[in-house]
Amino acid sequence: MIDIYAVGGYTEVGKNCTAIKIDDEVIVIDLGLALENYIKLTEDADIIKISPEKLMDAGAVPDISVLNKIKNKVKAIVISHAHLDHMGAVPYIASQFKAPVICTPFTAEVIRSILKDDKIKLDNEIKVLNSNSSIKISENIKIEFIHITHSVPQTVLIAIHTKYGIIMYANDFKLDLRPTLGKIPNFKRIEELANEGIYALIVESTYAKDAKKMPSESVAKEMLRDVLLGIDNKDNVIIATTFSSHLARLKSIIEFGKKLNRKIIFLGRSLAKYTRAGENVGIIHFSKKIEIVKYSKQIRKRLNKIEEDRGKYLLVVTGHQGEHNSVLYKIARGEFKFKLKPEDNMIFSCTTIPTPTNIANREALENELKLSGIRIFKDIHQSGHAAKEDLRDFINLVKPKNIIPAHGDKEMKNALVDLTVEMGYKTDKNVFLVKDGHKISL
Ligand SMILES: [Zn+2]
Repeated sequence: MIDIYAVGGYTEVGKNCTAIKIDDEVIVIDLGLALENYIKLTEDADIIKISPEKLMDAGAVPDISVLNKIKNKVKAIVISHAHLDHMGAVPYIASQFKAPVICTPFTAEVIRSILKDDKIKLDNEIKVLNSNSSIKISENIKIEFIHITHSVPQTVLIAIHTKYGIIMYANDFKLDLRPTLGKIPNFKRIEELANEGIYALIVESTYAKDAKKMPSESVAKEMLRDVLLGIDNKDNVIIATTFSSHLARLKSIIEFGKKLNRKIIFLGRSLAKYTRAGENVGIIHFSKKIEIVKYSKQIRKRLNKIEEDRGKYLLVVTGHQGEHNSVLYKIARGEFKFKLKPEDNMIFSCTTIPTPTNIANREALENELKLSGIRIFKDIHQSGHAAKEDLRDFINLVKPKNIIPAHGDKEMKNALVDLTVEMGYKTDKNVFLVKDGHKISL
């Protein structure tokens, strides 16, 4: 008997967590943060002093009380990738389970650096498992990681091999045939597993309503090329911002910055954190080509120098969502001696994550920026999530017996249900809508 518990991320985008009970053993997949709730709660409090219960009540981490009765049956916590909405709660609630955390080397590096920065000691062992390999959890359960493309390195599909068949977890991914960092998805292995038989597929629905194929990261790179190489005002600074974890995008920004003969400087803690993690596992080598400034005192000093020769620089800064304490917001507010001028260039290589707080923050940031007369280039970006036609291709490839839409609100999940019905699946027969806190038995 297999029970699938929708713990988090089935009613909203954020705090992803799924538990799968196979007879008498449980595998927990992903322990993510709901970032907005987390930031609200931690803005003026020391995170170490906030209890897991308080974090759960505030909706900042998955509410694992639904697992109370089966807590001591948990054999492993498996993490799909290094985004905070998938692994950011590990430091705070993983110790509620007496089980190892299993993830790829890059994800492990990022978790370790969060633990170090926040001075948190984790009781759980962190076990590293490479993409395209597997680990035996018990007599009856084997976990396999299959390489897939997304917007952060070393993202995996998770296959749980059981005597009832394979449970596949596909949160988050896109089918990128032209990635700019790392390989294309491991289609061969996905096909082999499909031939063995996928009993259930837990799959993201975030962009299921977008009738398109999500463009490759190579397309985002070309968009960046057009903008960056099109800028020829030598007296003006170029400032770019993107997701700090998006190493592929950062790699493209560096490439074009070099073509422009600009000095490239990363400014901010999270950029330093993800760059270090990527270098530690050998997937990028940025620090040979660029300068990285992590702490605010040094950032202030460095920016003062830049002021003297602003046309020589490409600055990559934190703050793409308009976060108030970010380097970008501080620059916009004029907190440094370095001031923005008309015809300076601001490139947002991202979209605004559509939550009320983010939308308000971004608007406020842009209003500040506009006061200086700076040029703003928005949405130089392609998402890391599968759109409707990718999802159709993926489901056709995986041929799952049962489908559980995840990673989205009601509207997003309904869009995925509509697609599966189009493909011949039947609601409540082999496609199941579940909300946070509920479970289904297969
Ligand atoms: Zn993700």
